[in-house]
Amino acid sequence: MHPRLAADLAELPALLEATRVQATGILGRLDEQPVVPPLRLPAPEPLPEDGAGLSGALAEFTRTWAPLFSASPGPRYLGFVTGGVTPAALAGDWLTAAADQNPTSALDGAAPELERRTIGWLRDLFGLGTAHHGAFVSGATMSNTVGLAIAREWLGDRAGVSVAEEGAAALGRVTVLSGSPHSSIAKGLSMLGLGRTALTPVPTVQDREAVDLAALEQALTRVDGPCVVVANAGTVNTVDFDDLRAIAALRERHDFWLHVDAAFGGFAALSPDHADLVAGLDAADSICIDLHKWLNVPYDSAVQFTRHPALQVRVFQNAAAYLGPLGETPDHVHLTPENSRRLRALAAWFTLRAYGRAGHREIVQRNIACARALGEAIKTIPGLRLLAPVRLNVVCFTLAEEPTAERLAGLAAEMAEEAFLTPTTYAGVPALRAAFSNWRTSGTDIDRITGALKDCLDGSS
Ligand SMILES: *Cc1c(COP(=O)(O)O)cnc(C)c1O
Repeated sequence: MHPRLAADLAELPALLEATRVQATGILGRLDEQPVVPPLRLPAPEPLPEDGAGLSGALAEFTRTWAPLFSASPGPRYLGFVTGGVTPAALAGDWLTAAADQNPTSALDGAAPELERRTIGWLRDLFGLGTAHHGAFVSGATMSNTVGLAIAREWLGDRAGVSVAEEGAAALGRVTVLSGSPHSSIAKGLSMLGLGRTALTPVPTVQDREAVDLAALEQALTRVDGPCVVVANAGTVNTVDFDDLRAIAALRERHDFWLHVDAAFGGFAALSPDHADLVAGLDAADSICIDLHKWLNVPYDSAVQFTRHPALQVRVFQNAAAYLGPLGETPDHVHLTPENSRRLRALAAWFTLRAYGRAGHREIVQRNIACARALGEAIKTIPGLRLLAPVRLNVVCFTLAEEPTAERLAGLAAEMAEEAFLTPTTYAGVPALRAAFSNWRTSGTDIDRITGALKDCLDGSS
């Protein structure tokens, strides 16, 4: 063993303790540090020939890199849709690395079963029936892609070909209809050989991001050939929801695969006041839900559900003599693009075990209340204008006068020490989004954000 490794092994408990102190320091600073720190990057260094040992690496990370990281796990990082990490999820993630399980096959240990049972809990959390099977993937993009891959196989089945065996060309042109799809749908279609132009936009309801049902039905009538409908349960700009029940009912008259991108909107199921937004979710053929957003587990984690596990196995099976037969309950290696992967279920298991449905419901409800409070505050700030009603956890707003992309970028940059907001364009108007999905965010943060917005506007006028 290299002497540096041997020394670290000998000192392992003390070194992990020092690492814990560093982690606690990062978390302890979240409230005071700039949400987005000024970037003063260190000069690149060549690959070290002689290492510094863990304590040397830790000292350098603490000095050089840690101060340049954003407060992304903190309560006022409101860009994109970004969750933090609950205490139990963090512990689960640390132990994931410590135990370093590969839940790929059932040949060693209980890790694959822990993953299966966690999927079962998640299915309950989102109100899905037992017909849905699930798998852990790295994020919603991968979850959408896996769902579309199973869709592709199902469409092949209808046409009498196996895409898994013969390739996407055997299927011919596929039409993917969607009102306000997330950008990851096009990326998934590109990866799957279906092509980005398979995505065919369907008009939305006026002044909304929800798909217009009559327009969808017209589009379905026009489609001649294999068809997927991607329904959106929570759009990123205004968190609008397609009518899932009505879309599912269209299958009585039209033949299509229904995929629902419920990356963060799926969590509406936890709030009795909002669960109706995702009524009908269970009827989908495949469903994408992100976990590193509103479940508040660390990156990278999402779940993918489908009612068609046999087709999923046909797409992703990794037959090899040493992996054992497929059997009744196929190993995870046969369900997702990865073969080996970390036991990402453990962080989700920890947070669900520690806080249960009620704990996670409280996070969702508090985040929704925060979004609503910020929305109300913005209505009272003269220089700002709400661009859409606050339907769930995102506030989409712009400048009352001259809302150019440059001016909004300027406002976001000025705000960045206090709160991180990301730019968008909604209904042709440049805007900013504040997305609430962090378990730490409270009313105090809304006051700070509102104060900062007023200060920035006062400063610039
Ligand atoms: C975030 C998001 C995605 C992509 O998620 P990643 O985890 O970044 O891959 C897809 N769809 C929707 C609606 C999202 O909000």
